[in-house]
Amino acid sequence: MHSIDIDTVEMTLDIMKYAINRISNTSPEMGSPKQEQDLMDLVGETVTKEGIGGEKAFELFKDVLVKATVPVDHPRHLAFVPAAPTRAAILFDLVTSAASIHGAYWMTGAGGIFCENQAMKWLVQLTGLPEGAFGVFTSGGTSANLSAMIAAREAWRDKNEENKAYKALLITSNGAHSSVKSMAKVIDADIILVDDDEEDKLNGKWLQQKIDGLSEIDRKRLFAVVATGGTTNAGIIDDLESVADVCEQEDLWFHVDAAYGGGALAAPSVRHLFNGIERADSITIDPHKWMFSPYDCGAVIYKNMELARNAHSQKGAYLDIFKDKGAQGFNPADYQIQLTRRLRGLPLWFSLAMHGTEKYTQAIERGLSLALNAAKQIEAAKHLELVRAPSLSCVLFKRIGWDAEDYRDWTYKNHQSGFALVTPTKWTKPASQTGGKEKVETISRFCFINPDTTEEDIAEILASME
Ligand SMILES: *Cc1c(COP(=O)(O)O)cnc(C)c1O
Repeated sequence: MHSIDIDTVEMTLDIMKYAINRISNTSPEMGSPKQEQDLMDLVGETVTKEGIGGEKAFELFKDVLVKATVPVDHPRHLAFVPAAPTRAAILFDLVTSAASIHGAYWMTGAGGIFCENQAMKWLVQLTGLPEGAFGVFTSGGTSANLSAMIAAREAWRDKNEENKAYKALLITSNGAHSSVKSMAKVIDADIILVDDDEEDKLNGKWLQQKIDGLSEIDRKRLFAVVATGGTTNAGIIDDLESVADVCEQEDLWFHVDAAYGGGALAAPSVRHLFNGIERADSITIDPHKWMFSPYDCGAVIYKNMELARNAHSQKGAYLDIFKDKGAQGFNPADYQIQLTRRLRGLPLWFSLAMHGTEKYTQAIERGLSLALNAAKQIEAAKHLELVRAPSLSCVLFKRIGWDAEDYRDWTYKNHQSGFALVTPTKWTKPASQTGGKEKVETISRFCFINPDTTEEDIAEILASME
């Protein structure tokens, strides 16, 4: 299996050729999903006793299977949070695989971890966290949020013997990402939601009111507040400064989930919106969203690394060697939930080292200006209405007269024809804002990440709603 013969050489060339073509193709075909049975009818069983051969397997992948996927880097893929990994980062993702480095401990990963840490230093510096703060790359925002929540919960338990008897409780906002709610389940913590204010943000005043209204026992169970630095649906950044005030006052762990929005910390035009983030105890940023890394690459950053290590460092007889003096250095496994890990920060490092950070700033600013441009085009169109001014690179808008079904049909039509992927979403106004009942509307949404998206792409998509 491991010896190299002439077939392997040919297959290697085929695969490298495909990879190079795909990396240079900035407008890949927009695939669409098929039923599992249809795929089975097309390709048949692929894992057999004798193997079907690399050539055949690769052919099936190229000709059939990859066409049943959507390339997230398509410039008219503006749904969910799209992606646009740099060529340098993708190429280095190949190198990361080829180099076969175990990234858990300095003993085996020193040179690679050094690179990751160079990239991390830049991320940490963007947050403005004080000296001593640092972080580690994770598989994504979900595991970064989970790692931070575990560190917070353990720190709270260690503060006071009594806390060990309580089920933990955390507070977040309606706009928080679903992963915050589902990771609370993973750590068996309860969760309380605070309504967003008139500006659709979590603010300190409403947070304080919520805390003041807790029962005595719930107040004791409360260990953390999770604010969002760019909601996934609308790009809204909570009022981090006033939330930080409350967390300080109430002695609560302050986590900022900036999985999507974190890239904008590098954008001078909006950096002030994140003021207060430098007071966080932990921060999540996903380089695979707005920092042009290939999947998957998240990051969790802590103000106090010691607290993270207390929560995450794994013990085991066969692991002691990694802590040996000769191998001493930064051990990524000590700061998040994963042990064996890919050096998933390496592609980001190479791309940053090659291009410099200024190019990142420009590419992120491009996403922000595309959002402003889209808003202008929407306001100028008679058939459309802007739901709210863009926040970061998210634009929420309505096609006047459309209901949920119209949006769905339009989405499928554009997707199936390979033209664009733009999906509907819901926009909710809580009862506290409408002065009556909660109001939920189906609308549409753009999220801009890809600097290759053009103003004409936007115009054509909007025209398809006429
Ligand atoms: C995308 C996102 C997450 C989840 O990150 P994954 O990388 O998908 O696990 C968490 N929080 C926010 C705000 C996000 O936008």
